[in-house]
Amino acid sequence: MDKIFVTKSFLPPQNEYLKYIDKIWQNGQLTNQGILLQELEQKLKIFLQVENLHYVTNGTIAIQLAFKALGIESGEIITTPFSYVATTSSILWERCTPIFVDIEPNNYCIDPEKIEKLITKDTKAILAVHVFGYSCNIKRIEQIAQKYNLKVIYDAAHAFGSIYCDKSLLDYGDISTVSFHATKLFHTVEGGACIVNDKGVSDNLDLIKRFGHKFDDHFLLGINGKQSEFHAAMGLANFNYIEEIIDKRRTLSQLYDRLLGTSIGRPKEQDNLKYNYAYYPVLFNSEEQLLDVMDKLSENSIYIRRYFYPSLNKLPYVDKQSCPISEDISSRIACLPLYFELEEADVQRVCDIILKALIS
Ligand SMILES: *Cc1c(COP(=O)(O)O)cnc(C)c1O
Repeated sequence: MDKIFVTKSFLPPQNEYLKYIDKIWQNGQLTNQGILLQELEQKLKIFLQVENLHYVTNGTIAIQLAFKALGIESGEIITTPFSYVATTSSILWERCTPIFVDIEPNNYCIDPEKIEKLITKDTKAILAVHVFGYSCNIKRIEQIAQKYNLKVIYDAAHAFGSIYCDKSLLDYGDISTVSFHATKLFHTVEGGACIVNDKGVSDNLDLIKRFGHKFDDHFLLGINGKQSEFHAAMGLANFNYIEEIIDKRRTLSQLYDRLLGTSIGRPKEQDNLKYNYAYYPVLFNSEEQLLDVMDKLSENSIYIRRYFYPSLNKLPYVDKQSCPISEDISSRIACLPLYFELEEADVQRVCDIILKALIS
């Protein structure tokens, strides 16, 4: 039996990728806002229905560029402990302090009702995550941000293709960032983007990602966040399949739903969200049950992943803060295999093993 992992990167037909690569050979430009990158940015803007989008080297630098473009250089950042480590590490790398707010048990996103009591005079921004592609409580977060004059950044690394209240989930907050890493729903091998609400901030970010200068005029401190034509080529080739990719994931997710029924915990369906099926998280009754299921699956060459574990407030390099709900959920949640090439028979096999383990 072939091994099954939690994900497998989508690869377009090789000749379709090579058609884009040919263009690089024809015009000789390898990076620095080349024609393929411009074409990809244009397509993404239309797909997402957004005005200001910057395609950058990865989803982590996208978050850090967001901090810089918004002028956040110190202070406290309200954030979620239930995410990939890059959410927290970006805050620390920008020399800010993460203040962890516990999550909602229903959708694993930051609980807005717990934000206000952690706001101090040093609070600068809220960095929330649409975890697994589910929507944060955007309305409440925006109310709070307005009341306390805070910036809002969404780490929307998982949210490409999710639609909330009839617009892209990436079109909220001062800046939303997304990752196009090979493991993500839509990928460009490595890559990411910033979607920026304000045109002035967007122009700033554009400069910052290219060392802060245009030719010999230096305007502000920058870094290298520029993406290459080769990555853009992969993005363009994959972009042609985005609807198919989401459709396939929906079909597989619905099969998981049917086979697993109510025997396992699942995030609550959200009003007004057209989900992108980026992940299939399942919540076990206990860590012991999760580990037992993982063992039984791995005996069958199936390897699920503990997304996300540990809860980020437990990282060895952050100050101790307590987030009981996130710690509890982190200890017993995992994502099941979900990717374009996964077959229905594989889903069936995964579910058979899980269901058998749950009753034993
Ligand atoms: C993947 C991911 C990132 C980082 O993206 P890269 O492109 O790998 O740098 C950031 N935040 C979350 C929630 C992620 O899952």
